[in-house]
Amino acid sequence: MLELSGLSEMRAWSRAQKARGGRIGFVPTMGYLHEGHLRLVDRAKARADRVVVSIFVNPLQFGQNEDFTTYPRDRARDRALAQERGVDCLFTPETKVMYPADPVTRVIPEAMAGILEGAIRPGHFAGVLTVVAKLFHVVEPDVAIFGRKDYQQATLIRRMVADLDVPVEIEVAPTTRELDGLALSSRNTYLTADERRSALALSRALRAVEQAWRGGEANPEHLQRRGMEILGVPGVTPEYLALVDESLQPVARATAKTIVVVAARVGPTRLIDNVVLGEGIAADPAVRA
Ligand code: AMP
Repeated sequence: MLELSGLSEMRAWSRAQKARGGRIGFVPTMGYLHEGHLRLVDRAKARADRVVVSIFVNPLQFGQNEDFTTYPRDRARDRALAQERGVDCLFTPETKVMYPADPVTRVIPEAMAGILEGAIRPGHFAGVLTVVAKLFHVVEPDVAIFGRKDYQQATLIRRMVADLDVPVEIEVAPTTRELDGLALSSRNTYLTADERRSALALSRALRAVEQAWRGGEANPEHLQRRGMEILGVPGVTPEYLALVDESLQPVARATAKTIVVVAARVGPTRLIDNVVLGEGIAADPAVRA
């Protein structure tokens, strides 16, 4: 496996692969890889001839009081996992290479980015879209894979690519979970054993909403209340639980396409999760993490 950290080297490598007729699949990450990331790699391999994984903890998407400095980092472990999974090129730019100066230009999304996660993390999605746009310009992938775990992020990236005519196909893959339902996340490493148990409230709340909906309840307020009952356990501070459509707008009636999005703090750690009602949590791939 090749590892590159320069922008022009990365672009030259991608272009050389493409000149030989190879399709490039791309999985952008912030590292501390887990099985959720590696499933995205599997998808990229199925869709392309060469797979690039980037590891970049993007300062632009963290708020002042967020965990940029403490975000888990372990390059040696990431390298081994990526290599084992058949990644062709690991792209690991330094912050000063990605941002040699404070950016004057950023990709600022419209109102769709100011709700849910965006309401709690102002500026977060401008940081995400800016770095993803930069990475697309450097890697020039044919297809890029994102996780549904970050539902609003994936939706905004799809819209950015459509709005700005970026020549890349976007695929969104289901959420990989632990056997008990906890969605895999690099931030799970922050959790103590007690917090890890409390964190199950998120997936349980989603499952409770899903079950109520399958039982015939379609009123979003009733479903939201049901979810909040399960979420509000000791040790968990709910931030939001909402039933939205594919454009992240509140629904008048829950249908198979409705997405239940949830965010909560477990101790000091912020976690998010979601389920598409018609698919259900049980349909998500589960692994022993
Ligand atoms: P991150 O490193 O957290 O920025 O995530 C990099 C990519 O992996 C994003 O597209 C995430 O949505 C995706 N991802 C993170 N956790 C999971 C998971 N449990 N299942 C599927 N995709 C995930």
